[in-house]
Amino acid sequence: MIGILGGGQLARMLALAGYPLGLNFVTLDPADDICSASLAQQIKGNYNNTALLTKLAEKVDIVTYEFENVPAEAAAFLSDKTTIYPPKLALATAQDRLIEKTAFHDLDIDTAPFVEVNSLPDLKSAMDIVGWPAVLKTRREGYDGKGQAVLRQPEDLAKGWTSIGEVPAIVEGFVPFDREISLIAVRSRTGETAFYPLTENKHHDGVLRVSRARPNDAMQTLAEEYATKLLNALDYVGVLALELFQAGDRLLVNEFAPRVHNTGHWTQDGAVTCQFENHLRAILGLPLGATDAIGHAGMVNLIGEIPSSTAVLKISSAHLHIYDKAPRIGRKMGHINLMNQDQAVFEADLQTTLNLISD
Ligand code: AMP
Repeated sequence: MIGILGGGQLARMLALAGYPLGLNFVTLDPADDICSASLAQQIKGNYNNTALLTKLAEKVDIVTYEFENVPAEAAAFLSDKTTIYPPKLALATAQDRLIEKTAFHDLDIDTAPFVEVNSLPDLKSAMDIVGWPAVLKTRREGYDGKGQAVLRQPEDLAKGWTSIGEVPAIVEGFVPFDREISLIAVRSRTGETAFYPLTENKHHDGVLRVSRARPNDAMQTLAEEYATKLLNALDYVGVLALELFQAGDRLLVNEFAPRVHNTGHWTQDGAVTCQFENHLRAILGLPLGATDAIGHAGMVNLIGEIPSSTAVLKISSAHLHIYDKAPRIGRKMGHINLMNQDQAVFEADLQTTLNLISD
C-alpha cells in the first residue's frame, strides 16, 4: 500500500499508473470531493494532524506526496514511522526559493542573479546587483506566478514589496528567455537515474497551457548535467522536474519541483514509461522504465472547462484525461495528450486541439 499526501489529480494519475503494478493507494487530504476519491481510499484531515499521520503510516509501506508544500513537521513525523520519498531535504530545499537558488549556486548550476530581500531598503540596494528589470518573489508558498512582482522602474519597488505582503523574499534578474523548458528526471532508491526528452512549455496568465516533447534537443545534455548534480546532492528518490529558461546559448535554472509534474503529463501517451509509473518504480526500488518518446508528443491543459469528449476524440492523435473535478474558473480540469508518428499530422492535430479550447 502506497500513501500519498494530497489527493488531487497527481495522486489520481499516480494511482492510475500504479494499479497495473498491483499497487493500492491511500491519501491524506483535508478537502471534500477530492479527485482521487474513486481510486484511492482517503484519510480526511489536516497534514499536521499527528493522529491521522500515524493512521496513514500504519496502513502503508511507503509515503510519497503530490505537492511540495507538505509541512516540514509532517514529513519529519512520518519519516520516524515509515519511509517517505522524495527525501525531506528535497522538500525543505524546494519550499524556500532562497535555499533552492543557493543550492543551485553551490552546485555550479547557472541561474539568474539573485539576492535575499527582507525589507524595502534591502530591495533597493539589491537592484544594483540583479539589474533592471527584475522579479521579486516570496521565499515560500509562491506557485503559478503567485507571490511575484515584476519590477521595471523605481516606482515598482515599493508597490512590489507591498504586493507580495512584505514577507521574506528574493529578487532576481529578469531573464529575457527564448524558451521555457523543463526536464523530468527520475532517480531510484538504487541510485539508477533516467531522463525524459526535454519539454518545451508555454504559459498563459502564469498557468501552464501547452507542453511539447523535444527529443534530441541541443540543450538536453546540459539540462541532464544540472539535474544529475541536484539529484545526487539531495540523494533524491522519485521524479523531479527541473524548470529552465533558455536565453541564447545559456540554460538557466528557475526552480525544481520534487514530484511528478504537469510538464511531464505527455509521457502518459507519448513515452515508453510514463512519469507516474517511473515515480512509483523509483520509490519502490524497482528497475526504471525506458523514458524515450514514442512519437511526436505534447499536451494541452484544460483550464476551467472541458470540451465535449466527442469533439476531442475525433482528433486522431488525441487522448483525453479528465480529472473528475467540479468546474471552476482557472482550475486545471484535465488535459489532452497528443501523440503521432507523423509530424505533419501531430502539428495539425495540436492546432485543432488549441482551436477547440479557445472557442
Ligand atoms: P515561478 O513561480 O518561479 O515558476 O515563475 C512563474 C513564471 O514567471 C515562469 O514560468 C516565468 O514565465 C516567469 N518568470 C519567473 N522568474 C522569471 C525570471 N527571473 N525572468 C523572467 N521570467 C520569469
